[in-house]
Amino acid sequence: MIRINANYLKLQSSYLFSEIAKRVARHQEANPTVDIIKLGIGDVTCPLPAACIQAFHEGIDAMAADATFKGYGPEQGYPFLREAIAAHDFQRRGADIDPDEVFVSDGAKCDTGNIQELFATDIKVALPDPVYPVYLDTNVMAGRTGVFKDGRYGGIVYMGCDADNGYLPELPDESVDLIYLCFPNNPTGATISTEGLKAWVDFAHEQKALILFDAAYEAFIRDDTLPHSIFEIEGAREVAIEFRSFSKTAGFTGTRCAYTVVPKACRAFDVEGHRHDVHALWTRRHTTKFNGVSYPVQCAAAAVYQPEGQAQTRALVDYYLKNAATIRSEVAKLGFQLVGGENAPYIWINTGEDAWSFFDLLLTQAGVVTTPGPGFGRCGEGHIRISAFNSHENVNQAMERIKKALK
Ligand code: PLP
Repeated sequence: MIRINANYLKLQSSYLFSEIAKRVARHQEANPTVDIIKLGIGDVTCPLPAACIQAFHEGIDAMAADATFKGYGPEQGYPFLREAIAAHDFQRRGADIDPDEVFVSDGAKCDTGNIQELFATDIKVALPDPVYPVYLDTNVMAGRTGVFKDGRYGGIVYMGCDADNGYLPELPDESVDLIYLCFPNNPTGATISTEGLKAWVDFAHEQKALILFDAAYEAFIRDDTLPHSIFEIEGAREVAIEFRSFSKTAGFTGTRCAYTVVPKACRAFDVEGHRHDVHALWTRRHTTKFNGVSYPVQCAAAAVYQPEGQAQTRALVDYYLKNAATIRSEVAKLGFQLVGGENAPYIWINTGEDAWSFFDLLLTQAGVVTTPGPGFGRCGEGHIRISAFNSHENVNQAMERIKKALK
């Protein structure tokens, strides 16, 4: 008899986005002439930078000729892209990362979801609340949690992030093995200082733990004092894995390219306490289960590191950051407490009331869609997330409408 993985039965249905869609459709049906502005979902709206498009075309042309055609490529990515990533994103900032520590993939979602396969099912996992749901759900699927009760799964160490701790996770006061961190954060937009990140690296050493550092929004960091990579922190090579993505950096959400950095020094332990090399395990996993990113897409991603690509991707991110600044300042003027939006595309607003009621108010009175915080965890209650991924025109109009609705 074929039996299912019963852990899947513990998963909560992804109620958030379907419930948002249902409420938006209901409002649109009742008000067919209203032009609804969507600042909910975290998808980019601007096209790919010209340098990426040109390199994409060249990559396709290469597939059309005998001399340049490519079949299966290296699963970890072509050397030209891995070398550009190591040099530009790490070595240039003083982080000691080699090209063969970079694994090119089709998404930080897949990588952050798949990486947990390398680790035992009875380890203790710590993650922030609110959280990017992939970290939690993939651990539920793997059987690392108990059942869901009162908004939380048994067996997980939730690191609550709220106004009291500046929306930053605090070091757990119990022993943990695998720690998820995300900076700049989704959904809160919070960032972490070098000292703050150093405390986590030191903690991971003390605990013999491993940090999974998701830096999918690294390109939004404009404050020069903030670390862009965990590998800028001394000692991180042994205790951390970092995830990056071209999705938000260069508009690749529909094109698909990302990468994961697993240093050769990165270690985990067997049940007897013997050290094992995580780089070798991830190499084995990646080469067994992943076929690599298509050649033209890797050409397009490598163009990000050319001078024109650098200028164009910076301008692209600046475009969204201008929206974020508008949202931040208008929401602050309305008297709300908020975080994010300065080095991140998300603004996390303390609504002072039930998150879904506030969501409904903005939808029905302003025609603006946001994301209610409880969809990201219990600590999201009383908060909404506004995303800066839209046009200046739509964001300006949305803020005018919100101001009017809340007056
Ligand atoms: N990590 C975080 C924190 C995200 O918010 C997202 C996408 O929204 C991802 C990873 C997914 O990135 P990718 O498009 O590379 O799969």
